[in-house]
Amino acid sequence: MREITIVGAGQAGLLLGIGLLKRGYGVRLVTSETARQIADGAIRSTQGMFHDALQIERDLGLNLWDDACPAIDALQFAMIAPDGKAAIEWVGPLDAPAASVDQRLKFPAYMEIFERNGGRLDVRPVGVTDLDALARECELLIVAAGKGDVGRLFARDAARSPFDRPQRALAVCCVKNLQPYDPVRVSFSVVPGAGEFFCIPGLGGDGACDYLFFEAIPGGPLDRFDGVAAPEDRLALMLELLAAFVPTEFARCADVELTDAGATLAGRFTPEVRDPVARLSSGALAFGLGDTVVLNDPITGQGSNNATKAAAAYLRAIVERGAQPFDEAWMRATFERHWGEYAAWSTAFTNALLQPPPPHVQRYLLEASWRLALRRTFVNGFNNPPDFFPWLGDPAACEAKIEAADVDAVAEPA
Ligand SMILES: Cc1cc2nc3c(=O)[nH]c(=O)nc-3n(C[C@H](O)[C@H](O)[C@H](O)COP(=O)(O)OP(=O)(O)OC[C@H]3O[C@@H](n4cnc5c(N)ncnc54)[C@H](O)[C@@H]3O)c2cc1C
Repeated sequence: MREITIVGAGQAGLLLGIGLLKRGYGVRLVTSETARQIADGAIRSTQGMFHDALQIERDLGLNLWDDACPAIDALQFAMIAPDGKAAIEWVGPLDAPAASVDQRLKFPAYMEIFERNGGRLDVRPVGVTDLDALARECELLIVAAGKGDVGRLFARDAARSPFDRPQRALAVCCVKNLQPYDPVRVSFSVVPGAGEFFCIPGLGGDGACDYLFFEAIPGGPLDRFDGVAAPEDRLALMLELLAAFVPTEFARCADVELTDAGATLAGRFTPEVRDPVARLSSGALAFGLGDTVVLNDPITGQGSNNATKAAAAYLRAIVERGAQPFDEAWMRATFERHWGEYAAWSTAFTNALLQPPPPHVQRYLLEASWRLALRRTFVNGFNNPPDFFPWLGDPAACEAKIEAADVDAVAEPA
């Protein structure tokens, strides 16, 4: 039996670990937190996942919350004018539902499934110096430690990392009693010059909930959460900012309260792509997976999707490798295939949305107000970011797409 060790039991590590067990590999997961610590801790994400990534979970039998989790059927886009009214606002239907299951529910459940399927789960933080010993006991060492410090082992890939500092300050509150939209949707409101606000329906420990999520341009008027630590203070500040900057969404918040004591997060990080292969002092290799090597800003909600698809890509490559060694050439080829087919586009889409939209994208977003095909293309691109290209970055291709889209029929007055 081939033995594989994965550091980090998050979205990528757990999916790959469970997938490998089902294919007959011996798998050890070494991770820094117990299931109980995760369940009792703070939210880590808004973790909205789209159809193709959800299908990967379904194929592994990991869709445990299909009946309980609100199915997200649409995405609402709004560009907010200085008077607080929406200058552009439309709703695009998703071809298949998206969903957000709190990682505090999901990871403990997957850890249990991993162990039930014969996986070995060790709970202890892994430092760079521990990796040599881990590598000696397996044929392939994968590091899927998210934003954990151990990931610094992998060198930053400057050519693929355009930013040297955080592009947004993040603040999330998970609430109950938000006034719902029909159809159930993610709302995405752009406040030019200040940042973005998202509202994502999801499933938490006590049932349905909503994640209120500000992406603030650093130094701008929404960048106010530094030093605000108490959960109730974070919610109060979020509501104050919503009332001032996104009043249409604030109007839904009259009765909101935090779901629990761990229902908030705030912070910032620098988006970064890293070299996927690191050589340890013993000469052994470590292979990076998920956020450890492709860390994007959450503005497009791609991280869990990317981690899931990367886990599926690595699983396929490991199985295809048969009995051959997991050498450096194989690691690089595996990463480059996933990068070229998927992660490069997800990263380019995300980095594009961190910038003010160029004129052709502004026109697309406006024209989408009366062209269903444009609304559909935009919202369903979140499921598969390669579909945003070339038109997102190419004015001529974007214009052609706009002109090819029919204008919505206007209902005749009765
Ligand atoms: C505010 C916010 C909102 C987000 N919203 C979305 C969204 O809507 N949709 C989306 O797709 N993505 C979203 N993301 C991103 C998404 O959560 C991550 O990209 C995804 O969880 C990455 O999976 P991963 O397995 O690479 O890392 P993680 O899920 O972070 O898992 C890493 C694991 O490694 C463990 N670990 C860390 N260090 C060590 C160590 N030294 N030793 C051992 N174990 C270690 C951790 O305990 C953890 O279990 C969001 C992120 C943030 C911050």
